[in-house]
Amino acid sequence: MSTTVKLASGREMPLVGFGLWKVPAETAAETVYNAIKAGYRLFDGAYDYQNEKEAGEGIKRAISEGLVKREDIFVTTKLWNNYHRREHALEMAKLQNEAWGLGYIDLYLIHFPVSLEYVEPSKRRFPAWWMDDNKEVVSWDKVPIRETWEALETVVDQGIARSIGVSNFQAQSLYDIQTYARHPISALQIEHHPYLVQPDLVALAAELNITVTAYSSFGPQSFIELAGIFSARAKDTPLLLESAAIKAIADKHGKTPAQVLLRWATQRGVAVIPKSNNPGRLAQNLDVTGFDLAKEEIEQISGLDRGLRFNDPGFYLPNHPLR
Ligand code: NAD
Repeated sequence: MSTTVKLASGREMPLVGFGLWKVPAETAAETVYNAIKAGYRLFDGAYDYQNEKEAGEGIKRAISEGLVKREDIFVTTKLWNNYHRREHALEMAKLQNEAWGLGYIDLYLIHFPVSLEYVEPSKRRFPAWWMDDNKEVVSWDKVPIRETWEALETVVDQGIARSIGVSNFQAQSLYDIQTYARHPISALQIEHHPYLVQPDLVALAAELNITVTAYSSFGPQSFIELAGIFSARAKDTPLLLESAAIKAIADKHGKTPAQVLLRWATQRGVAVIPKSNNPGRLAQNLDVTGFDLAKEEIEQISGLDRGLRFNDPGFYLPNHPLR
């Protein structure tokens, strides 16, 4: 049994999961099935990752073979930026739920606090940030977050999702949503690693009873493999997995640097969703709740903070940062 955390909705969520970004659709079913065999129970997907149907097939295979039951699995997925309007958000939640094919979504998040113009899925299925094939045109829409949040509450009312939350949001929006939420903000998924600690935001979330999930726990590692502007910052930054300070702590505990980076989060109650296709790494990334770092070690790791964000819409649109 993996360690779990109780969400504001009252539902339990595993503290360690498997991230589905950049897992190719062609291999996603097999990858997910193998991850379940390795012990993973939470899968972190998104419409934008373009592999929900295949990930769902991997889960259904594991269920049909009796490895797990539906209730043992926790599926997180996210609403993409082009579908923030009330009717589109509801339509998308239904479509995504059908794609997974598991009856319900455990946690449904607003992917970014950024509304883009609606694009009919039949015309352009996965628009990402751009309205055109040349990746030059981004069209903003004017949809208040309140409208989208209320749509997600309807998604819960209709039994499509069990818990709802937000991703890439900052303090201001959390304060605002709190004033009208009928269903609690169960989770906040953010970029969180020793180069981008955001301690005040994490502390605020704790005070508001919002569970934080860290993404890109290894910092630049996930971004060096990307093209162009997306990887530029990462390429200029020393890798956390090769940091002398992290390595020394890892050696002391007989763990790998990756495990130390994940434990630095989970020991503070922050959930993690690392991604790997390598069986050895899959196993080690899951084994990150059974040892403890010293308080001084946690502080030393947090001391590496540079306020350095690797995932930011400002990359696609100069002068449009996330914060
Ligand atoms: P990650 O932190 O999981 O890093 C992945 C990279 O680390 C890959 O290159 C992988 O090969 C390597 N790696 C994995 N385990 C390792 C190990 N034990 N030792 C050495 N190297 C290892 O990065 P990520 O994919 O950016 O983030 C994880 C998940 O978070 C994503 O898959 C996705 O589900 C989610 N995410 C969400 C958002 C969002 O906007 N909400 C953005 C990015 C990622």
